[in-house]
Amino acid sequence: MAFDGFGARINDHYPIIPKGGYFPGTLEEPAEITVYCSCGEWEFFSQASAGGGVQEWGPDFEAHLIEEDYA
Ligand SMILES: [Zn+2]
Repeated sequence: MAFDGFGARINDHYPIIPKGGYFPGTLEEPAEITVYCSCGEWEFFSQASAGGGVQEWGPDFEAHLIEEDYA
């Protein structure tokens, strides 16, 4: 683990997909994904619809990093 010299972790932001946070979907049930940030300030949920699969969470996460000045 890297530290910034003042005891704080340099990277407080990394994506976590919780256990069971990704569901690939079945014929009866749509796919779902839940992702959250290690900082607890960002969460993403997407459920597949008739129009397509689950949304990409990457761009949303990047936006969070930019917002937090970590990008
Ligand atoms: Zn974060």
